[in-house]
Amino acid sequence: MKVTCRVCGQTAEVAIWSEEYERLKTAEDPAYICDACAQKIRVEAQNEQPH
Ligand SMILES: [Zn+2]
Repeated sequence: MKVTCRVCGQTAEVAIWSEEYERLKTAEDPAYICDACAQKIRVEAQNEQPH
């Protein structure tokens, strides 16, 4: 399944046997975010909320 990253607009192929595909398939508003953007968001979130 072809998906588009909601953050950077890059397209990626999600394998139908992957957990990501299961998550997108069952989501009401499927929002795919690529690994690079997910990593970036994670880092930014950590910076905003230091433990
Ligand atoms: Zn992205």
